[in-house]
Amino acid sequence: MIDNFAKPKTRRHSVAVKVGSVTVGGDAPIVVQSMTNTDTADADATVAQVAALARAGSELVRITVDRPEAAVQVPRIRERLDRIGINVPLVGDFHYIGHKLLSDYPDCAAALDKYRINPGNVGFKAKRDTQFSQIIEIAMKHDKAVRIGVNWGSLDQELLTKLMDENAVSAAPVSASAVMREAIIQSGLLSAQRAEDLGMGRDKIILSAKVSQVQDLIAVYADLAERCDYALHLGLTEAGMGTKGIVSSAASMGILLQQGIGDTIRVSLTPEPGGDRTREVQVAQELLQVMGFRAFVPVVAACPGCGRTTSTVFQELAQDIQDHIRVSMPAWREQYPGVEGLNVAVMGCIVNGPGESKYADIGISLPGTGETPSAPVFVDGEKVTTLRGEGIADEFKQMVLDYIEQRFGTPGKASQSSQS
Ligand code: SF4
Repeated sequence: MIDNFAKPKTRRHSVAVKVGSVTVGGDAPIVVQSMTNTDTADADATVAQVAALARAGSELVRITVDRPEAAVQVPRIRERLDRIGINVPLVGDFHYIGHKLLSDYPDCAAALDKYRINPGNVGFKAKRDTQFSQIIEIAMKHDKAVRIGVNWGSLDQELLTKLMDENAVSAAPVSASAVMREAIIQSGLLSAQRAEDLGMGRDKIILSAKVSQVQDLIAVYADLAERCDYALHLGLTEAGMGTKGIVSSAASMGILLQQGIGDTIRVSLTPEPGGDRTREVQVAQELLQVMGFRAFVPVVAACPGCGRTTSTVFQELAQDIQDHIRVSMPAWREQYPGVEGLNVAVMGCIVNGPGESKYADIGISLPGTGETPSAPVFVDGEKVTTLRGEGIADEFKQMVLDYIEQRFGTPGKASQSSQS
């Protein structure tokens, strides 16, 4: 018998970092984060999108702070979010002039919970160290965390050139892509060391080293994880649109998470024009949930359907339940503690239907082609009833809601509602 089959490796040890009310690293659960795509100078749009991302389950939200008009809005955005009960920590994304914005707008510096610094564009030549130091000093003054976020698209060119030159005269030269990966890692580690030399604690530093190719990302993070104990932010940059972005992110981050690497994740999906930005949060949560690291929403298992399915009833039912769960989750989190661990099965025929349904907390096996038009329902592994007729879908939906109320509702509340 195979034991220990495909269990995730023990989480790599990392130093825990507090970002506002959220802990990243150490023993804390892997944190889901996201980023807005609104102009931060447009406070209305940014408040609305941060709120939507937070309600979808994003535990940290990053916003762009690229110019004075944006910096001036940051404390106002924070205040407005607090007023509507959205206390998600905000991360400021700075490039080129972060040092200036943070020193010119101290209220912005105070309102943010973490500053993202890109070592590749924090300043160039002689100015780089001064500007980097300025940001670190402001972060220390306000007791804020930083993420040193290297991105291969804006990699420190001086460092890359130096490593390329060294490689060219080396007795055992490696490939250009291996040099690039080393430059990405070194850029992060050298900057983190510089921050520590300036007096910043390791418990204030998170590192990321993002690339856009799956195999490169796995190689870079595996190496980075061996060479430091900073908390690591995982993310495939420019993952792309639609299924390509989802598959690339899940494949690369899934492998790293399985190796115990990663303390916070972001799925960088390109939304379709007018698309829903919260999709990236949903994908990140589903990745962590299907791998067994965290539970966010009840799981609806549905078979793929095949030639034995007579109609689209089971797909519609599975979709309907899934949609209802997702829309209801913000309220259910409060109302039904533990409901995120629920498993529902909606199966298309007798072949796997009863088996899968028994395994779920509540499941239904719909009739396939040529089967008696009846649908056995299983609750906690036992067949409790058989539904028949036109109303199968609605009756099963109601049974799921009753099950949730019974199992996760507070006893007091359940008896009150049954009396009313
Ligand atoms: S459970 Fe039945 S309908 Fe669903 S995929 Fe399997 S054989 Fe096909």
